[in-house]
Amino acid sequence: MVSYKELGLVNTREMFAKAIKGGYAIPAFNFNNMEQLQAIIKAAAETKSPVILQVSKGARNYANQTLLRYMAQGAVEYAKELGWEKPQIVLHLDHGDSFELCKSCVDFGFSSVMIDASSLPYEENIALTKKVVDYAHQYDVTVEAELGVLAGVEDEVSSAVSHYTKPEEVVDFATRTGCDSLAISIGTSHGAYKFTPEQCTRDPKTGRLVPPPLAFDVLDAIMEQLPGFPIVLHGSSSVPQEYVDMINQYGGKLPDAVGIPEEQLRKAAKSAVCKINIDSDSRLAFTAAVRKVFAEKPGEFDPRKYCGPARDLREELNKHKIINVLGSDGKA
Ligand SMILES: [Zn+2]
Repeated sequence: MVSYKELGLVNTREMFAKAIKGGYAIPAFNFNNMEQLQAIIKAAAETKSPVILQVSKGARNYANQTLLRYMAQGAVEYAKELGWEKPQIVLHLDHGDSFELCKSCVDFGFSSVMIDASSLPYEENIALTKKVVDYAHQYDVTVEAELGVLAGVEDEVSSAVSHYTKPEEVVDFATRTGCDSLAISIGTSHGAYKFTPEQCTRDPKTGRLVPPPLAFDVLDAIMEQLPGFPIVLHGSSSVPQEYVDMINQYGGKLPDAVGIPEEQLRKAAKSAVCKINIDSDSRLAFTAAVRKVFAEKPGEFDPRKYCGPARDLREELNKHKIINVLGSDGKA
């Protein structure tokens, strides 16, 4: 058993309470390797933003859980070296799908876990979430749960509506599970293809796809039911067109990739939404920079020469999110 407190990490409780009061949101960035972690920590340290490091099941399979934990521990020390005296860094399990997985992360030094039982029937979601909460809270580890199902690319607009979180369920769910934060579905979606072209309209000037707006009425209804309760948005990348264009310009193929417009995320960040997940945008920035190097210098074979620029572009993106979208700069 390793306590996250010994590693210099923090849980989300105080962080979220401050974010809701202050009208901003905490960035939750996923990482799988050293360059991504460097980019996140540099961006957070230089902007003095609290930050959530997210480890998905895929990341655990890719990089090894043990290595990722030690990397997060190293990240705290690295942040101090960068002049961030009291780093506010959370190590969070993204989309935990079983009690065993969540327990192993709690035992291993994570300060926060997500149990995503949203695909289960309502009562089973409650039972599994409560089991994780009861275990995690013994060690002061915070728990994110999910209610409602995020729309996928294959979904029709009409069927997406029925997957939205039902505001009439949130009080019962939060009370009976004891979860610390709630991921909801209001029209965000995972990946770089959040919407089909049929679900979008086209901007007549640029020809770009314009996605349907987020369901702020559902968010408002949830906040009315659960005043001051921390809300989380998954699938909230904006899919910046500059990176999509760069990727396509340098030999990639990402036609009609579309995300959530930043002004909608800015609006959400000012509400009870206090954690916004960003993964696809970071991947796009990283890939765009790598493709550019390979296209311009086909003879390059030193990984530092393409991972370095990729890391730098990702850092720039992460800073942009912190300062211009979430408003979490200067809050840690
Ligand atoms: Zn997610």
